[in-house]
Parts: sequence; C-alpha cells; structure tokens
Amino acid sequence: FSDEPTIPKPALRALPDPGRPPIEADVAKGGTVRRMNLNESPIQPSPKAIAAMQDACARVNRYPDPQWRALTGAISDATGIPQHRIVMGNGSDEAIVSAGRLAVSPGDEVVVPMPSFPSYNNAAALNGGTLVPVPLKADGSNDVDALVAACTSRTRLVFAASPNNPTGNILTSEEVARLAVGVPDTALLVLDEAYYEFGIHAGGEDHLRVMESRNGPWAVFRTFSKAYGLAGIRVGYILAGSDEIANAFQKVRSVFNVNAVAQAGALAAWHDTAHRDMLLEKTRIERERLVAGLRELGAEPFPTVANFVTAKMDRPAAGIVSALLERGVMIGRLMHPGYGNYIRVTVGSPDDTDAFLAALKEVL
Ligand code: PMP
Repeated sequence: FSDEPTIPKPALRALPDPGRPPIEADVAKGGTVRRMNLNESPIQPSPKAIAAMQDACARVNRYPDPQWRALTGAISDATGIPQHRIVMGNGSDEAIVSAGRLAVSPGDEVVVPMPSFPSYNNAAALNGGTLVPVPLKADGSNDVDALVAACTSRTRLVFAASPNNPTGNILTSEEVARLAVGVPDTALLVLDEAYYEFGIHAGGEDHLRVMESRNGPWAVFRTFSKAYGLAGIRVGYILAGSDEIANAFQKVRSVFNVNAVAQAGALAAWHDTAHRDMLLEKTRIERERLVAGLRELGAEPFPTVANFVTAKMDRPAAGIVSALLERGVMIGRLMHPGYGNYIRVTVGSPDDTDAFLAALKEVL
C-alpha cells in the first residue's frame, strides 16, 4: 500500500513541561509511606460530606448542575459576593490555569512571587507569556511593593498568595490594599487564598473587602482541598471582582467541570463548620510541634500559619528528602534557584509529626 497518502501528523503546539510531581513516588513502599509532601490534610473530611457523596453516587446517571447553584448560593451567603460572580473550578488549580487562558497572550508578562506555587508559571508559559519572578521578603511573605514595581504596560496577570505556598506567611490588609491600588488596571490581580481558613484561624485579616476597593480587574481563589480535607474531589472557587471577570472565567472552563459527587460533598462540608474548625485547630497544634521540633534540630522554619512548614537546613535538601523517603516519610523540597537547602513538610497527624522528627534526627 505504498501509494496510499500518508496521513499528516496533527500539529501539536510545543508546550512547556508543567513539572508535575512524580506520581509513582507516592506509591513507594507499598503505600505505607507517610505523605507529608502535598499539603494534604491527614484528617478525613466531615462524615456529613462522606454521607452526602455516597448519597449522590446513586444519582450519577444525571449530569451535575453546570452552574453549581447550591454551592455558589452558600458561598455567596458567607462571603457577600453575589452568586453570579462565584465560579467553581475543578480544584483552584483550574482557576489558575483559567486565569492564564483568559488574561495572557504571547509576549505578555505575568508577575509572580518567587518562590510561590508552580502552577502560576504554567499560567504564563502555556499561553506564551513571560514570567516575571519577584523575590519574597526575608520573612517569606510576598513583597507587595516589589510586585507592584515589577508591573509594566505589558503585565496582564499578577499573582499574590496569602498564606503563601511554600512559606506559609500571610499578608496584612494594609499590604493587600497597596497591591489592589498599585497593580495597574490593565492587569488581572489574583489573590490566591488556597490556605485562607488557616490564616483566619491564626488571627489573620480577611482581605476580601480590601480587594473590593480595587478599580481594576481582580479575583480571589479559594479551595475545599485544604481546610475541608477534600483534596481528592477537586473543588475550588473563584470570587470574581466584576461580572465581566466572572463571565471570562465562565467562558474558559468546561461545561460540567465539577462533578455531582464533588458538589454534594463540598456543600455538606461547607455547612459542617465544627468539623472544619476541629481540623484547623488540630493542624495548628501539630504545626507548632513541627516548628518547635525543627528548631530543636537546628533548622530555620519560616513563620507559617498554613498546614505546611518550610525550613532552611544546613545542607542540600535533596539528600535529606531521599534519606527520609528511605525511612518511609515523604516530604518536599524547594526547586527554586537559591533555595536548594529548603525542605517543605506538610502538617500531618501527631504520629506523622513524631515519625518525621525522629527520622530527621537520624538523617541529620
Ligand atoms: N494554590 C496554592 C497556593 C496551593 O498550594 C494549591 C495546592 N497545593 C493550589 C492553589 C491548588 O489547590 P487545589 O487545586 O487542590 O484547589
């Protein structure tokens, strides 16, 4: 059949490597490894959420509500953001990807704190944007004045995070106000609050009203993955600063982006505030034990309010991470230039804290 025309290969865009975590590492040691690397909750979700998800399973012959009305109604009541300006996502990660798709064209600049959550890089790179990294302040918080100063007429997207991942610090409302006023109106300002509830639990300020003072486009991202212990069902949400921004996020998502089981689970979890508060308090207690234990071993942890601790070690983190993995404890390390000696540990159960600190003592 040599005279048959050859079918041309589809032209695929050359896309950058998203740098996803190696999945196979998670199942190392026959699944007995302690997962202290992904900022997951060691605590199971609300029993009411589990019951609601089981119940929803019986009806999955039907498509989910494409406008997630029960969820956005509940979130609207609590935040004061009108329901039509709340856009749900398949995790807040979908929101980050969407922000890139709706705001960034080739040649545009995306201003991000450095180090911060790696998905921000993809929001730039996947859309041909140029990443403009802005170093954190010495205490690990976002340097809002430097973020503003890094903006040019080509900046279309600015990410800030409070609490910041990987350092865990929060911004003050005064700092968020400087950001809200200082970032040019030609850029979409995103405040990533994936760890929002931990910040509030630690006595931090709520930044939503301050973001509302911004004239230009803005959005706040939050998630059910952390404080609600629901990372596995992938539900996050966008509080959009205007109808226009909400509509833009609506356009770039897929129609049924949050499945019916996830919508039911998130809604039940949302209403079980006692369970959420228990999770936040247990996390606080273990976080403080982790920080104290790390200090005792000579590490220098950043001040953190979140469910993870990043600490500077006296040697390269890569060796520490692999030695801990051999002992059944999986933690993370910072891949950013200049941060080779930094480890990031997720706050786990009391047992996880003990096992991690014991293993670290052996390794150092
Ligand atoms: N933002 C930050 C700062 C994060 O750390 C994470 C998850 N680690 C996310 C967003 C994404 O979370 P999810 O997609 O599970 O909502």
